[in-house]
Amino acid sequence: MDSKYQPQLVEEKIYKEWEEKGYFIATVNKNKKPFSIILPPPNANGSLHLGHAMFTYEDIMIRFNKMTGKETLWLLGLDHAGTETQFVFEKYLKKQGKSRYDYKRDELYKMIWDYVAENKNTIKNQLKRLGFALDWSREKFTMDPEIVKIVYKTFEDLYNQGLVYRANKLINYCTNCGTSFSDLEVVYVERTDSLYYMKYGPFTLATTRPETKFGDTAVAVHPDDKRYQKWIGNEIEIDGLIGKFKVIVVADRAVDPKFGTGAVKVTPAHDFNDYEIAKRHNLPMKQVIGFDGKLNELAGKYKGLRVFSARQQIVADLQAKGQMIKIKEDYIHRVGTCYRCG
Ligand SMILES: [Zn+2]
Repeated sequence: MDSKYQPQLVEEKIYKEWEEKGYFIATVNKNKKPFSIILPPPNANGSLHLGHAMFTYEDIMIRFNKMTGKETLWLLGLDHAGTETQFVFEKYLKKQGKSRYDYKRDELYKMIWDYVAENKNTIKNQLKRLGFALDWSREKFTMDPEIVKIVYKTFEDLYNQGLVYRANKLINYCTNCGTSFSDLEVVYVERTDSLYYMKYGPFTLATTRPETKFGDTAVAVHPDDKRYQKWIGNEIEIDGLIGKFKVIVVADRAVDPKFGTGAVKVTPAHDFNDYEIAKRHNLPMKQVIGFDGKLNELAGKYKGLRVFSARQQIVADLQAKGQMIKIKEDYIHRVGTCYRCG
């Protein structure tokens, strides 16, 4: 007998025997209590990492319950992982000096599909090497036609029960990735930017993003702010860079009277706080930045400019017009960024 344990000499053989004898295959048995776990499907965008060894807990639970006489099922699944996988694949393309734009849509789809297929095989071998008591006869993949059908059906059921609805809402969107993100996927970073104090009708107000002014639909002040009482509820006229326009002055407790001059412009389509203010006061939404990250036709002559060049141009034009009161250059604030692109 060897003094050292050599797993490769024994484990593969034992696992094969377990599989061949169907020990992990679940059957419906009315006389036995069922016990089942769905393996959280690993993303097929690489191989399993050390964290996946945590599945051992599930393996122990399945084996324990099987030995207590229950009919057990540990259901195996693998996840295509959609944009997550695309992100990993794009990094791989980048190493070869390529990008997703070098391929047609269906070509890229096929390349990613093949990449997933390769990873699926690697992962399945790893799961076997870990000795997991998975029911291989029921293997699922998140893009299996019958699974996709269940997803659609579930969505339809939720819709029919009024639990899913469609409406306009502000979302986190990355113009580089070309997709929306959940709040959990937004990374907030501290940045030092300029805070621009600009003339705005009868007010001076401070903003870090003057390029969004074409989407303003109100000015908001704190209801207790004595400086602005007489304006609340009134419409003011602003001599803007692309012509005169009018907005209403609203009072809202979300406004910090200590920020800037205590009066803020409300841009519901491009700021989450402003979006909430707009909902409370029934203000319209004007989207002025497109999904391509460029200003749209509502920005008049600034149409087609990307956000940062638009900002430079607008600041210069406001200065020329005598509407830029001052610029505070060391304003520190938190900015939401894409967790992939920064
Ligand atoms: Zn991104």
